[in-house]
Amino acid sequence: MTVVLSIKAATLEEKQRVSSLLASEGCVYQWSGAQAVIYDGNFSEKLKRRLDNETSVIAIQQLTTPHPLVSLEFKSAPSLIKAGPITFGGPGIPIIAGPCSIENQTQMTQIAQAVAQAGGSLLRGGAFKPRTSPYSFQGLGIEGLMLLKESAKPLNLPVVTELMDLRKLDAFLSHDIDIIQIGSRNMQNFDLLRAVGQTNKPIILKRGLAATIKEWLLAAEYIAAAGNEQIILCERGLRHFDNTYRNMLDISAIPYLKTMTHLPVIVDPSHAAGRADLVPALALAAVAAGADGLLIECHPTPDHALSDGEQSLTPEQLKNLIEQVKPVAKAIGREII
Ligand code: PEP
Ligand code: MN
Repeated sequence: MTVVLSIKAATLEEKQRVSSLLASEGCVYQWSGAQAVIYDGNFSEKLKRRLDNETSVIAIQQLTTPHPLVSLEFKSAPSLIKAGPITFGGPGIPIIAGPCSIENQTQMTQIAQAVAQAGGSLLRGGAFKPRTSPYSFQGLGIEGLMLLKESAKPLNLPVVTELMDLRKLDAFLSHDIDIIQIGSRNMQNFDLLRAVGQTNKPIILKRGLAATIKEWLLAAEYIAAAGNEQIILCERGLRHFDNTYRNMLDISAIPYLKTMTHLPVIVDPSHAAGRADLVPALALAAVAAGADGLLIECHPTPDHALSDGEQSLTPEQLKNLIEQVKPVAKAIGREII
């Protein structure tokens, strides 16, 4: 159980009045705008009576959810998350595409043009790569951030890239990275979640390798509780007992999350499949199930990619995939944007 207090105005004075009342009852709480979330076990009858008499408090909601700020129980309207001209969570379904790793300028110039021509609306690429082996290509680092922005700029594509270490956050902000991705391996890196929660950038929060939905939503709550509610959840397949293909795409998560959270839910069929030939079918299924966006790996020459070449589409395959998903989106009253 959690309790959300709403106050009249998020002024320092009002917050201080309520904070000192909560502190005098030994309560653990967290402000997020004009809301204070009180954690379970802290809410006594005596505290409730005192809050009822406090004029700054306009609502006290006792909720069953452990993650109120990201929950539908607290906020019933879907959240619209904007990156440049693109909106996630509305009727449009944006396509984010690009290589697993940013490798060089030629690759990025080619792929940015290919993504725009295929009908993609955001460019992705990893500059800091979470690789299983320390001997695999680790990414170009800061130089990669520059190449990503430079290649996207002439095409007006917002960019998405993964942050692994909070010491690099300033570089992400100074390079004006439009959407910060928190990868599966860092879904429960709580310091990182708190740090991106203090920015005003949209965050793509990927589901952990074997995370439950509850753990995933609580990770999102960390970001929201730190003050940033611009969160996009990304299902990317789960570790599974059967390793025939890379991961098991949890399609059920999409409609289920729609009953739990106001946050948009996008799907990454590439890391789920681990093989390019399976990606289009998973993308179609994701859109049919209500996904609010797709994140797809593609590369000008997948055979020569420095990471995840097996699952990367060629520019032509990306174009075909986008053409294929358009009628599926239309069939459920939505549109690929
Ligand atoms: C990626 O997007 O390149 C990536 C590493 O994804 P994930 O965190 O889902 O493995
Ligand atoms: Mn990858």
